[in-house]
Amino acid sequence: MIEEKKTSKTRLDFQTKWEYSPAPESTDHIQLKDQYNLFINGKFVEPEEGRYFDSINPASEDKLASVAMATEADVNKAVKAARDAYNKIWSKITAKDRGKYIFRIARLIQERAREFAVIESLDGGKPIRESRDVDIPLVAAHFFYYAGWADKLKYAFPGRDPKPLGVAGQIIPWNFPLLMAAWKIAPALATGNTVVIKPAETTPLTALKLAEIIQEADLPPGVVNIITGAGKTGEALVKHADVNKIAFTGSTEVGKIIQKTLAGTDKKYSLELGGKGANIIFEDAAIDQAVEGIINAIFFNQGHVCCAGSRLFVQESVAEEVIAKLKDRMGTLIVGDPLDKNTDIGAINSKAQLDKINELIESGINEGGEIFQSGCDLPAHGYWCRPTLFQEVSQSHRIVQEEIFGPVLTIQTFRTPDEAITKANNTPYGLSGGIWTDKGSKIFNTGSKIRAGVMWSNTFNKFDATSPFGGYKESGMGREGGLHGLLPYLELK
Ligand code: NDP
Repeated sequence: MIEEKKTSKTRLDFQTKWEYSPAPESTDHIQLKDQYNLFINGKFVEPEEGRYFDSINPASEDKLASVAMATEADVNKAVKAARDAYNKIWSKITAKDRGKYIFRIARLIQERAREFAVIESLDGGKPIRESRDVDIPLVAAHFFYYAGWADKLKYAFPGRDPKPLGVAGQIIPWNFPLLMAAWKIAPALATGNTVVIKPAETTPLTALKLAEIIQEADLPPGVVNIITGAGKTGEALVKHADVNKIAFTGSTEVGKIIQKTLAGTDKKYSLELGGKGANIIFEDAAIDQAVEGIINAIFFNQGHVCCAGSRLFVQESVAEEVIAKLKDRMGTLIVGDPLDKNTDIGAINSKAQLDKINELIESGINEGGEIFQSGCDLPAHGYWCRPTLFQEVSQSHRIVQEEIFGPVLTIQTFRTPDEAITKANNTPYGLSGGIWTDKGSKIFNTGSKIRAGVMWSNTFNKFDATSPFGGYKESGMGREGGLHGLLPYLELK
């Protein structure tokens, strides 16, 4: 498989010489209804106005199910159910019993992991390898982890008296649908709060399957309510007078709207917003590993990742080598059917998101960036974007400043660590970053000067239930995960 090119360098040619037989994951074992209602007070109930919207498969544009559109009246109903459940049941039972329910949810998710993984890939477009090996195991891990905290809160905050807030309103995005639901629901329940959660419009199905598990776990009615709908549904939840806490993950734009709405109220809130992560490769890094790290940092989940390493900074002395290897590696990535186990990059989550990505790619070209895209085949139907990189870009380019949320990488070079730090920090965001080097001291010196909530060294996009996650600047406020993730749901007396 090695081909001699004119440059006399040996290069891998996967495009023409490697063929993979299809390896599709079966869909026989999943159960999807044609229509889903709202999950309020332990039951599936019809929406007050009787309106439904379609959830489609972005890889085929086929309809998967119709889903209830919750309006203000439904939000009121869900919040009332959550309040009643809080007052009458959830705040009264022992912390140990709360923990038992959460453990039960975790175990049921593990039992049905395969079904969840397939539905996540169908509804959201992500490769089955990722939903199977990353999303769903992390979902179970979050429930297990926070189940363990339920009866140990006083050890988490010694000398303090932690009290739940009451009803938590939670709004989640479409990039990690079930995982974001777990990040929100697990700590809220463990700390003694009840929940009203709104999944994103394009990916509601795994949250609705979670509602089935919640029923099966016999969680008292009203402790978790799941209301599907659009931005207006989220807005009604944020504005509801009887909600004590808002937890939001999504765009910085909507995060700012929520922050304005909540200013002057006594609601507690946490915001996990956008990012423009810097991935810094020093000349002493293990280059082949770093190239794999770059691929993972930007192409994982089609780049629909708030902490994606979407800005690459390479030390000038190794830039040529790194970029050549990166382009070769991009040529090997398989874009296509999310349910095929060979697939590296699945479908873009929606037509709207594909349009946004294409508009930003266009702006990169118009502003003078040098584009490189892999030459892979794309399926005839569905929403797809080839793995893309841009060279010859500067700090002022839109594609260097704005969150693209797609498989698009910008590359810039640097000479000194200080230059890399200055460039890495030159963005309104502060969520994540990565450093690749052989020297531990360089990791600490550089990492400590980059204003980002999460810094990875010699790896990227590693998540763990025990580890806090969150941003600075326009990437939001508050932390999710780990012991820190308990705090946004508690009042410490
Ligand atoms: P949004 O921020 O609009 O969506 C996130 C969630 O908020 C969804 O559930 C959405 O509902 C809901 N929502 C929308 N408007 C409001 C509102 N006024 N009040 C309360 N809730 C609201 O993200 P988009 O889906 O529109 O994506 C736009 C861009 O945001 C992406 O291109 C990407 O750059 C960024 N993004 C960042 C994410 C992150 O994790 N940092 C996650 C998702 C997006 P609905 O889905 O029904 O519109």
